[in-house]
Amino acid sequence: MNESDWINLADQVIANTYKRFPVVFESGQGAVLTDVEGRAYVDFVAGIAVCNLGHANQGVADALAAQAKKLFHVSNLFYTTPQAELAQWLVDHSFADRVFFCNSGAEANEAAIKLARKNFFDKGNYNRWRIIAMEQSFHGRTYATLSATGQKKVREGFEPILEGFDFVPFNDIDALAANVSEKTCAVLLELIQGEGGVLCASPEYIKAARRLCDETGAILIFDEIQTGMGRTGKLFAYEHYGVAPDIMTLAKALGNGLPIGAMLAMEDVVRAFTPGSHASTFGGTPVITAAALEVVRQMERDDILASCRETGAYFKERLTALKDRHDVIADVRGVGLMLGMRLKTAGAPIVEACMKKGYLINCTQETILRFIPPLVITRAQVDGLIACLDDIFSNTHT
Ligand SMILES: *Cc1c(COP(=O)(O)O)cnc(C)c1O
Repeated sequence: MNESDWINLADQVIANTYKRFPVVFESGQGAVLTDVEGRAYVDFVAGIAVCNLGHANQGVADALAAQAKKLFHVSNLFYTTPQAELAQWLVDHSFADRVFFCNSGAEANEAAIKLARKNFFDKGNYNRWRIIAMEQSFHGRTYATLSATGQKKVREGFEPILEGFDFVPFNDIDALAANVSEKTCAVLLELIQGEGGVLCASPEYIKAARRLCDETGAILIFDEIQTGMGRTGKLFAYEHYGVAPDIMTLAKALGNGLPIGAMLAMEDVVRAFTPGSHASTFGGTPVITAAALEVVRQMERDDILASCRETGAYFKERLTALKDRHDVIADVRGVGLMLGMRLKTAGAPIVEACMKKGYLINCTQETILRFIPPLVITRAQVDGLIACLDDIFSNTHT
């Protein structure tokens, strides 16, 4: 079978929920992907901010294989060692006291939403279940998480959605202050809206959100599913703000491509989860947690945060220099290796042109090019993309 045979097969037998590029990938190494026809691509998407340590990471593959040869799964009716070790690592490296493991970002947010509501139920405060979320946010595709997502296109067609979510404009302190009340059980937000277009929360906004939650007793939830695990040059993006949440959700890069989600919380909040109140069959299974343990150890051993900061600063500088050369670029934004470039025209043709030249990039919200490469991307690979973009912008007359 050649590439188009595979594409035809997939298009016949897989639910049509994704708009896909016509390429079939077969292998990867670091930041480079190779398709079934042998063409190579430098990857600035990383499986949507997932493969932070690069594709086919050998250390993670070895940890996965070693654990798979010992024990796959026993359920959470019993204890296993990698799960406890990974939880300890996360607790030691964050504000949190305890971890709940699940299998995806949406599931981590589901756990956070359930935990927040259960907190007030347990206090006999049965009318306190409203959650404030942000316009343009993205929290997942399950019912609770699409209900928390501030984008009409995600919710449309699925009504009635879960009750109790109120949306406010992102980065607007007055709007938040006007909406947080005795009925608010939680405020849920991304520190940098990823799907929303690489929009950074301002430090004042995050400080105000913390203060408003403290004043009213509402729970502050940071969705760090995209920003967490080193993406912004700190282990967690909240560290840039000096403001810790009560609950944080992780997924994407935690398993470098293996499905794992986690909800981290403070003791006085997570206490509301007791045996039987929440569960996941596959959550924190030994194979996945052993692999994730290797992910976090490799991040420390190879000082991935430092390379993310260095390469990220260099990349942003080069994107900003491009902006000075090309009128079509409206702005450049982001932190670490979570960068965005807003265009004055549609981004899709640029994504396609890059792909033809062997570079994978992403476009979100129609006009925002998003760059979320593996954190191990090199300066030379960044230079290659910059030259490619420079060439494309020089030859597109809009
Ligand atoms: C990707 C993402 C999610 C959803 O994660 P899934 O694993 O696809 O369920 C939630 N929140 C944010 C910020 C994300 O980037």
